[in-house]
Amino acid sequence: MQSVTLNNGVEMPVLGFGVYQIPPEETERAVTDALAAGYRLLDTAAAYGNEEAVGRAVARSGIPREELFVTTKVWVQDAGEEGTRKAFETSLRALGLDYLDLYLIHQPYGDVYGSWRAMEGLHREGRVKVIGVSNFYPDRLIDLVDHNEITPAVNQIETHPFFQRTADQDLMRERGVQIESWGPFAEGRNGLFSHPVLAGIAAEHGRSVAQVVLRWLVQRQVVVIPKSVRADRMAENIDVFDFALTDEQMARIAALDTGRSVFFAHWDPVAVSRLGRSRIHD
Ligand code: NAP
Repeated sequence: MQSVTLNNGVEMPVLGFGVYQIPPEETERAVTDALAAGYRLLDTAAAYGNEEAVGRAVARSGIPREELFVTTKVWVQDAGEEGTRKAFETSLRALGLDYLDLYLIHQPYGDVYGSWRAMEGLHREGRVKVIGVSNFYPDRLIDLVDHNEITPAVNQIETHPFFQRTADQDLMRERGVQIESWGPFAEGRNGLFSHPVLAGIAAEHGRSVAQVVLRWLVQRQVVVIPKSVRADRMAENIDVFDFALTDEQMARIAALDTGRSVFFAHWDPVAVSRLGRSRIHD
């Protein structure tokens, strides 16, 4: 597995497994299959409700802890210094781990500065190797970077052929922040899996559209965490390291960018209020 080197020297696998929308009762089996397929980076969140199941699969796998790279995220409800400290302990307990590899602020809402102070503290105490953010548009990211000691090592944002984030990636690179794609397949929206340009490139390599999309991201140095509940697709999605897209193929994919989310914009006041008020525990 290829890796990227983060701004504090930690190595992160360039491709991992995401568990958003996998029901808790299905998650242990899915993560077990993913680990068997060779995935070592796992991406969950307190808000996904499946951290315990991820933890059970990790414990049963027998894979040495240092070979795994486990990410979880603090939800908006727990924003702030105290809330984030508490949420971290809850997540770590649910996962059955004694340290985390990557802890992310899930959404750029609420008291993210308080959350960041807690995360800086947890990092200094050795409880989490890497700290970062998610869904931060450039303005909020740069503000956080400029007014804090530790620069987020990762920003996990929606990134796929219809919303490519190249300017965001350039800015993040300048500031030492690694881009990580969520929704690499746009969750299948816009007919991604049968898109003629992607299908054409897939045919040229004798690969699938999913593999072309993942290869395109990896070639752009974007960390990516595709989700599937199917073992055959897990194997397909990790099998992208033995072929390369040409510059011309990369350019054809670049032309698909619409510059807009296929879900919603995190700067939209409606989304800010909707997500900002959503609760995941009492
Ligand atoms: P995604 O990976 O873009 O798409 C998942 C969908 O693609 C599922 O319906 C899956 O179906 C299908 N699929 C997977 N591999 C396939 C293949 N080879 N061929 C055909 N279909 C395939 O969407 P996502 O789950 O939203 O994003 C990935 C991960 O990013 C999440 O699991 C989560 O960890 C993270 N994420 C983070 C945020 C955030 O706010 N930070 C938001 C969304 C997601 P099956 O499962 O039926 O195979």
